[in-house]
Amino acid sequence: CSGGGLLVYSDSSPSRRTLTADGQEIKKKKVVVLGSGWSGYSFLSHFNNPNYDVQVVSPRNFFLFTPLLPSVTNGTVEARSIVEPIRGLMRKKGFEYTEAECVKIDPSNKKIHCKSKDSTSLKGTTEFDMDYDILVIAVGAKPNTFNTPGVEEHAHFLKEADDALKIRRSVINCFERASLPDLTEEERKKIIHFVVVGGGPTGVEFSAELHDFLVEDVAKIYPKVQEFTRITLLEAGDHILNMFDKRITAFAEEKFQRDGIDLKTKSMVVGVTADEISTKERGSGEVVSEPYGMVVWSTGIGSRPVIKDFMHQIGQGQRRVLATDEWLRVEGCDSVYALGDTATINQRRVMEDIAAIFGKADKGETGTLNKKEFKGVVKDICQRYPQVELYLKKKKLRNIANLLKSANGDNTELSIETFKQALSEVDTQMKNLPATAQVASQQGKYLAKCFNKMEKCEKKPEGPLRFRGEGRHRFQPFRYRHFGSFAPLGGEQTAAELPGDWVSIGHSSQWLWYSVYASKLVSWRTRSLVVSDWVRRFIFGRDSSS
Ligand code: FAD
Ligand code: MG
Ligand code: MG
Ligand code: MG
Ligand code: MG
Repeated sequence: CSGGGLLVYSDSSPSRRTLTADGQEIKKKKVVVLGSGWSGYSFLSHFNNPNYDVQVVSPRNFFLFTPLLPSVTNGTVEARSIVEPIRGLMRKKGFEYTEAECVKIDPSNKKIHCKSKDSTSLKGTTEFDMDYDILVIAVGAKPNTFNTPGVEEHAHFLKEADDALKIRRSVINCFERASLPDLTEEERKKIIHFVVVGGGPTGVEFSAELHDFLVEDVAKIYPKVQEFTRITLLEAGDHILNMFDKRITAFAEEKFQRDGIDLKTKSMVVGVTADEISTKERGSGEVVSEPYGMVVWSTGIGSRPVIKDFMHQIGQGQRRVLATDEWLRVEGCDSVYALGDTATINQRRVMEDIAAIFGKADKGETGTLNKKEFKGVVKDICQRYPQVELYLKKKKLRNIANLLKSANGDNTELSIETFKQALSEVDTQMKNLPATAQVASQQGKYLAKCFNKMEKCEKKPEGPLRFRGEGRHRFQPFRYRHFGSFAPLGGEQTAAELPGDWVSIGHSSQWLWYSVYASKLVSWRTRSLVVSDWVRRFIFGRDSSS
């Protein structure tokens, strides 16, 4: 697709070479991708520009379909079914893969420092450096403990496949221990008291899965101790699922009440010891400690140490999360991109750019915008600043032209003051994108597509105030499209919130959930494995061996 008579062929070696017409070898740029999760995998599967060498570094040689991870904790779905080895994709695409963790990014020398661990033996670690021309950071995030004492030591996280398997073994272990002879009732109660911290989608879904397991399977398997089990869900805020529609929150809270899940809102965990978890009541400030058998911690995410260190080096040390611009380029650093949970997009404020926007639109430099100039700018503002759309939605206006018209009355010329006034509240609608697989995979796809047409675009570099139409091959900034979210609530019921304020709760949405997630699985192999896990569970119940 690019000039100069490039000829591409692949030989038996894994990396491909590019030759010019007269047989000279061109040194290809090397793209190093860190991570094989949602954003990394999506980037890799959409990337196909033969003018780059792609090298992937990730400690995990598989992609993990996280939305079904809670179902692994109780054996509804097997861990293997939601894992896709990445070697297959690497071979198909001619990319290189190295199983290692990046422990330091050195942007001034365009190098990364890596460590590879042999997880199957005690042979220790190997360290090495790797150069890059372009770095794509897709390392995700780590569970956030908010430095609460004892959490790292005593609580389970639910982030990786291993975590889910550990939780599964631990739940079953708790029941086996609680079934031992010669225990007092108190002791039994303690051992099978399960505490979930965090009322977000993951914590809620895990509680629901655990509850289903207790009701549908444990009752049959451990009839003697079943009456002593208890699930407590702790949430620091006023409500669970607070990012969802209020109707969903209300339904979930009522359902949990009916199910006998002990939901405690406004309680913040202040410490975990080997046998007790302490919470502080918001308001009264009272601290209560309760004995438990198992704690699962799911209160959100924080930056990985390697990213924290990198942020310090590039002058982002004061920030909580790594910032990129809307083209996913890391701010303050050349040739580095960041995707998914690792980063947030630093959106531009309309108000900061307003004079420049106006100046660009005012082609005749008359100080006002006439009808034609006005029409020219309207579309570009909407494309460039996503907050405008949210603002219009809130004001129940169909488009920005209406907004400006309502500010300008019958005037045919629009002055900068009116222009400013009409847009003055738009920036209040700026929102960070959620840390979800939906966002991560769309970002991966977006960036891959940018790379795929890089040659066309190289001559016309993009910039924050370049509007559509200035260069035909310019990249659009990343725009997220929300397709809706699900909150599985157990008992074959799911809450669904779809675009356009559409909320649906119950058994029908459970089927929608089954079909959406089956369709989102990245391969036919995993899809068939998951579906057969579901069928097996319907017919035979869950496997309860640990
Ligand atoms: P990840 O997918 O976490 O990938 C990070 C990758 O980087 C991994 O391969 C990791 O091994 C690798 N890595 C880590 N450290 C390094 C390093 N130092 N060097 C190199 N590589 C490294 N989202 C939804 O939209 N819908 C859902 O239903 C949903 N359910 C979820 C359920 C659970 C239990 C969890 C934990 C998350 C869920 N999410 C869901 C959120 C979603 O999984 C994340 O938003 C998504 O995984 C983010 O993608 P990512 O690529 O940024 O990170
Ligand atoms: Mg990733
Ligand atoms: Mg993942
Ligand atoms: Mg992000
Ligand atoms: Mg004018």
